[in-house]
Formats: sequence, structure tokens, C-alpha cells
Amino acid sequence: MYKIGLTGGIGSGKSRVADLFADWGAAVIDTDVIAHELTSPGGAAIESIRHEFGPDIISPTGALDRQAMRELVFESPQARQRLESIIHPMISSVTQKRADAAQGCYLVFVVPLLVESGRWRDRVDRICVVDCDPETQIRRVQARSGLTPEAIARIMSAQASREARLAVADDVIVNDGRTSLDELVRHARELHEAWCMRARQ
Ligand code: ADP
Repeated sequence: MYKIGLTGGIGSGKSRVADLFADWGAAVIDTDVIAHELTSPGGAAIESIRHEFGPDIISPTGALDRQAMRELVFESPQARQRLESIIHPMISSVTQKRADAAQGCYLVFVVPLLVESGRWRDRVDRICVVDCDPETQIRRVQARSGLTPEAIARIMSAQASREARLAVADDVIVNDGRTSLDELVRHARELHEAWCMRARQ
């Protein structure tokens, strides 16, 4: 299948764009959604995480306590590595299984940390970046999550820069503070049609 790696910073609009591609007939696999499934109550990663980090990192519902984990990995790069060594192989394996079963005119992998991970260039035919200015990212994420601007800025500082993402992009969808939702749909549709054509070639 023709494969697209879709990425962008937090709040750039990549989930929104991925939903459009899915509506138009693409197969979409979102690695963030898989990470959430693995760390939800009863998720495959929960017991390993409990074993590695102790019971306090698991909330009473049985899910990973995301806030506590965010604090922990922010304080300690080692903790981040330990978490990633549990969760990354699981995400890879689920992603692979879903990719093998995927059906659609092309396949989109939504990967928030595509640029950071460095493992995706060889796995996809094209990298598409949803590009947004940091101020708009903060505004959108604040409206969506209620996190403070400081907490959002902290998450953003752990992500690749706008420039680093643009440097690896084959396609760019501009979705900044001046982009209306109609414009976003129009631009995404143009790419969708171009990818469908390439997928058929
Ligand atoms: P990401 O998946 O990159 O974190 P989302 O797709 O969830 O970002 O978008 C963040 C929020 O901003 C969502 O609530 C989304 O509906 C909104 N949004 C995205 N693009 C636009 C836009 N062009 N105009 C208005 N709201 C937008």
C-alpha cells in the first residue's frame, strides 16, 4: 500500500486532518491512539508499567496516570527511556498488525514524534507535516485540554522544532492561526487526490 507518515506538533491539527483522510477512504493508524489503548484500563502495557514504576503511577481506574507520568518523565530522562522501552515495542507491534490488515486507497500513519524517532523515513513513501505557529498551537491545546500555557509550552519544548519538521516534509499542510477550516479541508483534499493518483501508479 502507498504509505504516508503524517506528523505535526501538538495542536497543529493532525488528528483533524487524519479524520478527513479517513472520511475520504484512506486507512488511518494513529500511534497516539494505540499508546492510549495500551495504557487504558486493562491495556497491554499496564502491568509492565506497574511493575517498572510501582502502583502509584496507575490511577484507581486502572489506567496509566498520565499527569503523574508526564511529571516523572519530565524530571527524569531515564524514566522516559524506561517507559519508552516498554511502550515503543508494543506500539510497533500493534501498528504493524493493523498495517497488515489495513484497507483503503492509501495508508496514513499518524505519528506525533515521527521526526524525533527517526525510524519512519524508510517505512513511508511520503512524509506530510501539518505546520502551525507555536502561539496558535498553545491556544488550540488550551481550548481542547484546559492545560496551562506553561504546561503546553513544556510539552512543545520536548518536541521537534517547526523547522526540523519542515526540513523532512515531502508535503506541508499549513494550518496556522489564519487558516480557516474550509481552507484546511480544501488543502487536505488536494493532497488526498494527489496521493490516490500516486497510489494507483
Ligand atoms: P493535534 O492532533 O495535532 O494535536 P487536533 O487535530 O486535535 O491537533 O487540533 C487541535 C484543536 O484545534 C482541535 O480542537 C481542532 O478541532 C482545532 N483546530 C484544528 N485546526 C483548526 C482550524 N484551522 N481552525 C479552527 N480550529 C482548528
